[in-house]
Amino acid sequence: MQDILGQDIKFLPGVGPKRAEILQKELGIKTFYDLIYYYPYKYIDRTKFYKIKDIHAQMPYIQVKGKIISIETVGAANKERLVALFQDETGTMELLWFKGVKYQKEALKTNVTYTIFGKPAEFNGKMNVVHPEMEQEGTQTLKPSGLFQGYYITTEEMKKKFVNSKVVNKLALALVEKVRGKIKESIPAYLVEKMKLITLEEALVNIHKPEDTLTLRKARFRLKFEELFFIQLKILSLKHQRENKFKGYKFSEIGYNFNTFYKDYLPFELTNAQKKVIKEIRKDVGGTHQMNRLLQGDVGSGKTLVALMTMLMAIDNGFQASLMAPTEILAQQHFTSISNLLSGMSLNVKLLTGSTKTSERKILHEKLQNGEIHILIGTHALIEDTVNFHKLGLVIIDEQHRFGVAQRAKLWKKNQLIPPHVLVMTATPIPRTLSMTVYGDLDVSVIDELPPGRKPIQTLHFFENNRKKVVGFIQRKVDEGRQVYIVYPLISESEKMDFKNLEEGYRQVCETFPGYSISMIHGRMKAANKDREMQRFKNGETQIMVATTVIEVGVDIPNASIMVIESAERFGLSQLHQLRGRVGRGAEQSHCILMTSYKIGNESRKRIETMVRTNDGFEIAEVDMKLRGPGDIEGTQQSGLGFDLKIANLVKDGEILQLARDTAMAILKEDPYLEDEKNKLLLKHILSNKRTEFNWGAIS
Ligand code: ADP
Ligand code: MG
Repeated sequence: MQDILGQDIKFLPGVGPKRAEILQKELGIKTFYDLIYYYPYKYIDRTKFYKIKDIHAQMPYIQVKGKIISIETVGAANKERLVALFQDETGTMELLWFKGVKYQKEALKTNVTYTIFGKPAEFNGKMNVVHPEMEQEGTQTLKPSGLFQGYYITTEEMKKKFVNSKVVNKLALALVEKVRGKIKESIPAYLVEKMKLITLEEALVNIHKPEDTLTLRKARFRLKFEELFFIQLKILSLKHQRENKFKGYKFSEIGYNFNTFYKDYLPFELTNAQKKVIKEIRKDVGGTHQMNRLLQGDVGSGKTLVALMTMLMAIDNGFQASLMAPTEILAQQHFTSISNLLSGMSLNVKLLTGSTKTSERKILHEKLQNGEIHILIGTHALIEDTVNFHKLGLVIIDEQHRFGVAQRAKLWKKNQLIPPHVLVMTATPIPRTLSMTVYGDLDVSVIDELPPGRKPIQTLHFFENNRKKVVGFIQRKVDEGRQVYIVYPLISESEKMDFKNLEEGYRQVCETFPGYSISMIHGRMKAANKDREMQRFKNGETQIMVATTVIEVGVDIPNASIMVIESAERFGLSQLHQLRGRVGRGAEQSHCILMTSYKIGNESRKRIETMVRTNDGFEIAEVDMKLRGPGDIEGTQQSGLGFDLKIANLVKDGEILQLARDTAMAILKEDPYLEDEKNKLLLKHILSNKRTEFNWGAIS
């Protein structure tokens, strides 16, 4: 901690005990350090003046020079307001006060020149500014410092106590003067030079009090880089430490099972992307480190096969493998498809879920413990404490975003001596910048290619009033032998209400399609019933499946080629994409139909447009992140990482992030423990927890 920056904020002139308390309570600002790292969120160029005739209500702010030509109080006694008519050589506008009417009336003068500043609005065809900042010509009271004035986020509570952005700005400017010349570098000089950064002091001074646009840009770059660099340095050095602490099992052999499966049972040629990823995994598990790899691949890209072949590597080296799915249906499906794929081989594959009977469960536990079971597939039930493996070497987690980090950690402990290799699979593409940060401690593999012969799904948007066309289309397709999903959203918080919504939908579907057999599944059904309905649909006994989003992930029914999503405007982008992924699995042309009401908001429109435009999950993830901000992206909250980026933006600063990560990587490669004298500052930073408020405990 740099000495001067460590001082209590109350010692800054203009703060005092009362404001210190507010700053701490509302913004967590306790020290000089906290304030100088509290950056403006925008700047306003106070060199710019406008003429009244040019002003319109869409301008974010205006600054005008002129004179007051009349002042009057209007309105009832307890609701009175002050109206001043303000004039320059091009016209007039009104200045309004609702508070401090009496005081303002006495303070305002006609016939002197004022600079007024504020947000313009229009009322009755006339421009006005409510509660403008006023500065009388010749006085310096409100003088903005520098060319740009920083605007700071403040809370309602602060505004009530008159600690608004302007006050924070003043305090920051006072602080800047106080600490000038006393701020020590946080990044080693060789890096500052190499990365062509401005000094930390110059950056901090300019972020609050920019000299000019160019210096402001440099200041922002320096602070963004620093922020992302320290996060990356920390993630990567933790990863490095973990790799050193935990030796991994070495799967040195590619043996009988892998080879036999590959030669005799693999039903199709692997795609190049699958081959590439299997190679990457092979390199991990064949080395001396424990694997922690994230496998991203769009729906239908063939992740299951990669999982299976990785499990065979484990088995060939005398280990057990386990595959964990987020729902019973998915666990069941994995179990079925993997059992089928392995049916010609003598491997013991078992399923363990919440609905496994106690008696069966007991036998399973025994066989697991004595090593008879090679592959265990299941749900959360897998991580119950009574489940003990003989020699667990590999854990695969499918659709990871539904598993908490804590659960992941629990699985690790299933093998006391050395943690098993972990492969996390997700069909929810995560924007690159996000995976570099949230999953920055994992290695990432991507399957960026679909198996050949797939026809891209056609996505169509229909408004409610065109429902007839959609009904006709569905009828035609069902008569041709296809099957259809119709998905209803979760509309309210209450399960009861959602259920009602679904039931109503089901009733309507039954009415609209009287000749067909219709299935329904939803989250409140017993697992066994759900499975039975699913099975009926899969067998072709029913033609239409009415469902909630329980069918979202992984369900694989190639003959179902139409996905209708009702009230599509209510779904998030990644969810829409996941749902769409349920079709397009067979040889037929598949369709996804998005039904919306006629009136939809801008964001919904954007989501629908994106769905219609592209099938590329990564592109969709990028749009999603732009629309919602990185904090809301699925997988972020569950990951348990508290993001608190002060200045860098994962949507916009991808390049800086890459640069920061590359730089951190290069440094750690040369000096893994940051022992070199020249990296002393970096080590110090890593050991302290300042400036990157990351919840490091959450990274397993
Ligand atoms: P996901 O990545 O969504 O889990 P799956 O593993 O379920 O995808 O695979 C989707 C479908 O593609 C499955 O029916 C699977 O058998 C098939 N498949 C996987 N790999 C290939 C391949 N290389 N060639 C042809 N079909 C494949
Ligand atoms: Mg899958």
